[in-house]
Amino acid sequence: TAPATTVTVTGAGGQIGYALLFRIAAGAMLGADRAVRLRLLEIPQGLKSAEGAALELQDCAFPLLQDVEISADPRVAFDGAEIALLVGARPRTAGMERADLLAANAGIFGPQGAALNEVAAAGIRVLTVGNPANTNALIASASAPDIPADRFTALTRLDHDRAVAQLAAALDAPVGEVAGVTIWGNHSATQFPDVAHATVAGRPAPELLAERFGGGDAATAWLDGEFIPRVAQRGAEIISVRGSSSAASAANAAISHVRDEQLGTDGRRTSAAVVSTGWYGVPEGLVCSFPVTSDGDGYRVVDGLSLDARGRARLDASVAELVAERDAVRELGVI
Ligand code: NDP
Repeated sequence: TAPATTVTVTGAGGQIGYALLFRIAAGAMLGADRAVRLRLLEIPQGLKSAEGAALELQDCAFPLLQDVEISADPRVAFDGAEIALLVGARPRTAGMERADLLAANAGIFGPQGAALNEVAAAGIRVLTVGNPANTNALIASASAPDIPADRFTALTRLDHDRAVAQLAAALDAPVGEVAGVTIWGNHSATQFPDVAHATVAGRPAPELLAERFGGGDAATAWLDGEFIPRVAQRGAEIISVRGSSSAASAANAAISHVRDEQLGTDGRRTSAAVVSTGWYGVPEGLVCSFPVTSDGDGYRVVDGLSLDARGRARLDASVAELVAERDAVRELGVI
C-alpha cells in the first residue's frame, strides 16, 4: 500500500473544518485507497474545538486515517505536508475597512506561506478557502518563494457548483447533464459565473435558455438579473435562511477541488482560482478564477474560450478588484 498522505487543515476547529475533516478521513478527497495523516492548525482559542473534532475522528475508526496531530504552530502543522487546506482566516466584521481586513489576513497567510516554504513536502499543493481567498493565496504564495506559484490555488468551486445547480434548476435538467460552466475572476460579489460555453445534455446552454425564456435577450436578462446575482450572493442567502454561513457546501467544494486537482477531471472543465501567467489578459501574478482541467497533476487553464463584450466587461471588473486588493497588500509591504 502507498504511504499515507499528509494533509494539513488550518482553522480546523471551525465550521468548515468540522464538515471537512471527516470526509477527508473517509477517503472522499483522495480516494478509498489512500491513507491520510491529518495535521490540524488552530490559533490558541480554537485548539479545544480542534481537539474535540480529533476525538470524534478517533471514534469513527476510519480505516484510512493513520494519525491526527494538532498544533498552534504553522511550522509544526505544515511539517511534511503534501496538501494544505488554508481555511482559517480573519472574517470581515462590521465597519472593517478592506485595508484592515487585508492587513489582518496578511498577518495569517504571510507566516503560513513562510512556514510552508520551510517545512512542507517538496510536492506541496495549497488550497486557500479563507476569505478574501484569492488575495490570501497570493500572499501565501509570495511568502513561499521556493514553492512554484502554480501549487497555490484558491477556491471558486463552490461558486462553480452553485452555478451548475442554478442552471440545471432553470432548465429542469439533472445537474449531471451540465458541463462547461465557468467562474471567472474573484471569489466575491464581482465574480462572473458564465454559461456561454456550457452545455446541458450536450446542447448549448444559451440556446436552451433562449428557448426557455423566449429569446436571446430575455435569456441575457435572466442571466444578468437573476442567475449571476443568485450565484454571487448565495452565501448571504444561506446565512439569512440557515442563521449561519455555508459550511458543509464549502467543505464539499474544497474536497471536490482537491480531488480533481490530485486525481484528474477526465477532460471535464471546472473552475479554480490559479496564479495567472497572463491568460485572457489577466495580469500575471493575480490569483484569478478560470476554466480549468486537471490530468491529476495540478490544474491547467483552458485557454482560447471566447468572451463576448458583456463577458469581457464582467471579467475586467472582477480583475480590477483583484488588482486593487493586490495593490493594497503591496502598499502594506506584504508582497
Ligand atoms: P468557517 O469555518 O465557517 O469559515 C472559515 C473561512 O472560510 C472564513 O474565512 C470564510 O470566509 C471562508 N469561506 C470561504 N468560502 C466560504 C463559504 N462558501 N461559506 C462560508 N465560509 C466560507 O469559520 P469559523 O469561524 O467557524 O472557523 C474559523 C476557524 O479558523 C476558527 O476555529 C478560528 O480559530 C480559526 N482561525 C485560524 C487561524 C490560523 O490558523 N492561523 C487564523 C484565524 C482563524 P467568510 O468569513 O468571508 O465567510
